[in-house]
Amino acid sequence: MGSDDISQTMKVISKKVLAEETLSKEEIIYLLQLEESPNRKALFDLANAVRCDTLGETIFIKGVIEFSNYCKRECAYCGIRASSKIRRYRMDPEEIVKVATDSARHGINTIILQSGEDPFYTTEIMSDIIKKIREATKKPISLSIGERTPEEFKLFKEVGASKCLLKQESVNPQIFKSVHGFDYETRISLLKILVLLGYVTGGGDIIGLPNQTLGDIADDIIFMRDIGIKMVGIGPFIPTKNTPLENHPIGSVDVTLNAYACTRLAIPSVLLPSTTALATIDPNLQYKGLDVGCNVIMVNFTPAECRQIYNIYDDKRNVEFYQTTRELLKRKKRLSPSILKALERKEVV
Ligand code: SAM
Repeated sequence: MGSDDISQTMKVISKKVLAEETLSKEEIIYLLQLEESPNRKALFDLANAVRCDTLGETIFIKGVIEFSNYCKRECAYCGIRASSKIRRYRMDPEEIVKVATDSARHGINTIILQSGEDPFYTTEIMSDIIKKIREATKKPISLSIGERTPEEFKLFKEVGASKCLLKQESVNPQIFKSVHGFDYETRISLLKILVLLGYVTGGGDIIGLPNQTLGDIADDIIFMRDIGIKMVGIGPFIPTKNTPLENHPIGSVDVTLNAYACTRLAIPSVLLPSTTALATIDPNLQYKGLDVGCNVIMVNFTPAECRQIYNIYDDKRNVEFYQTTRELLKRKKRLSPSILKALERKEVV
């Protein structure tokens, strides 16, 4: 690829990134709209170089435990929304601790506790689960349990949680309100509070929500950069039966990959998973994400009988530990020593 094939705008952007200057909204939009071309390849190469320069080549493996699919919310896109007529489950606190402890033996880098927004797990119950997992595993614990009060999140941090994922889904208030029945301001202020509480805070959005423009996605990236977000979950919208958005088209894979690359350029040290939503469209796409700036894969440790009914979207792919690590090694990706040791013990490499 000669430098003549690269646009002037792309050259300016590359220079700014290398000089650690802040990209403008217009520049991010330019990158988001790129289609297969030398410019897009330049974007992906740049994002990959920024990742390796900032954080090294390791792909971090996080283990997710989806401990309840009860949810009090009515998010228009989500298969486990309160009114969905699906089979529901709640794992017992002891079982959650046991599954988390087992998952830690696989050498995973973080344990993610995820659920619908389920008040069954009171402040006390949740604190107790976090405390026991932290004591048993010493692993970083990440919460993905929806909204709680600032006081609860403060307590959860004191007893052992250090990361928290609460996606803004869209920072555009009109889009946010059109798909959520709950308060936009509360969500945005809670994210800022999580940062202040000292959590490694995760935001993120869904690509392809109704009426979303590339400008909205650029605004999401800028918002996360400006409030000090350190983990970003971005996935394409997946239409899900019996939800208000069941007939809305699937989110763009190309824009999702471009958004990964842009996020890496905007927040160089971000923990950026190549998401299960992308793997649901095609597992190869999830690996492709790792070449365009992503550095995290989330593997699923939810017990099989629960996993099958944690259908936040249709046909959700089961990203499994052994299959994923084998595939990563086959693709010459670097894994952390704790994962390699666990794999050696199991004699799977
Ligand atoms: N209840 C917690 C919360 O709201 O933060 C955590 C679980 S929630 C089900 C996890 C994420 O799934 C949401 O942040 C949303 O972005 C994503 N999600 C749900 N339904 C989706 C869909 N149909 N397509 C793409 N992503 C979806």
